[in-house]
Amino acid sequence: MSSNKNLLVLPGDGIGPEVVNEAIRIVDWMGEKRHFKFNVEQDLVGGACYDAHGSAVTDATMEKAKSADAVLLGAVGGPKWDNVARDARPEAGLLRLRKDLDLFANLRPAIVFDALIDSSTLKPEVVKGLDIMILRELTAGVYFGQPRGIEERDGVRYGLDTQIYSEPEIERIMEVAFDLARKRNKKVTSVEKANVMESGVFWREIATKAHKNGNTDIELSHMYADNCAMQLVRWPSQFDVIVTDNLFGDILSDCAAMLTGSLGMLPSASIGSRDPETGKVPAMYEPVHGSAPDIAGLNKANPLATILSFSMLLRYSFDLAEDADMIDKAVEAVLNNGLRTPDIMADGCRSVSTAEMGKAVVAELDKLA
Ligand code: NAD
Repeated sequence: MSSNKNLLVLPGDGIGPEVVNEAIRIVDWMGEKRHFKFNVEQDLVGGACYDAHGSAVTDATMEKAKSADAVLLGAVGGPKWDNVARDARPEAGLLRLRKDLDLFANLRPAIVFDALIDSSTLKPEVVKGLDIMILRELTAGVYFGQPRGIEERDGVRYGLDTQIYSEPEIERIMEVAFDLARKRNKKVTSVEKANVMESGVFWREIATKAHKNGNTDIELSHMYADNCAMQLVRWPSQFDVIVTDNLFGDILSDCAAMLTGSLGMLPSASIGSRDPETGKVPAMYEPVHGSAPDIAGLNKANPLATILSFSMLLRYSFDLAEDADMIDKAVEAVLNNGLRTPDIMADGCRSVSTAEMGKAVVAELDKLA
């Protein structure tokens, strides 16, 4: 298969460039062995962009991100930029990308590889074979609702935020949840606090309506957020896709991530709405971890989260499930062979560098091709 898909790569700061280099190795392999070539363009984001241009992302880069078929990002930030004005901080670049591309759907898979089962703090029998997807609404809810602020009323100071969701905002995230479940185990758990929040009652009503409206092939259940937190630790494999709002998603996705026990293994995707004119769906793929300044430049970082993010890119932006499966299998094989970067090191395993890990994944891909 040939392609002229445009991929914008934003390595960012700290270990970002190191881990992204290893994902690029896989991008190149795809071009050579699977004949799926990307036009790859690299640009600056975060502190690296601030140093060059005085802002965390430039308008020109935003235009490239909007016209690209997908964006692959490393990580941003670091102590060097701690004293930079808030709106020019490295993180502001990431927030602008998410906001301007309207990336409302944040996909965070939590997968436990057999070879890493001991990295989880939970018992092996609880997390064995775990493969769940947390879908978090990312651009609305209490982090953005108005009014918000700190104000005085009758001589007493109050801090307030507003949890607010429109019907279309709930509908569109539910549609993503049903679509995801359709490609997985056909189960969606919608999570809110309908017992104590009006916005939760509304969320449940719209979720149910969206289900009836063409999605009854998927099993939908509802769960309160506090119970969901308990169930994630008690019996996580009962879930397939969990869909929830921005605030609960922030907490539950971190909780689910830690079931796997390792930050260096966690990919993510943030996806927007289809543009009715161009047909494009904006999407950005990135590892969950940050720029890890403590190990930056040491060739020690685990590149697997970024490589798995590229696998998600193939699966969700280009519908290349077979190729994405190959990458996931290659990663699993490398782990089964006992290769480990220091963050996931275990007894009897062989310590490898960032680059060695990337090359080992390519070697496994060669066997699978
Ligand atoms: P971090 O994720 O960068 O690091 C936390 C710990 O995990 C560190 O000990 C680090 O060495 C380790 N770690 C992280 N990723 C790893 C990998 N791939 N391989 C091996 N070890 C890894 O979080 P932090 O230390 O809280 O933040 C550092 C900087 O990153 C801050 O400036 C923060 O704002 C930024 N940050 C950026 C993002 C992002 O770009 N999406 C996310 C989180 C934090």
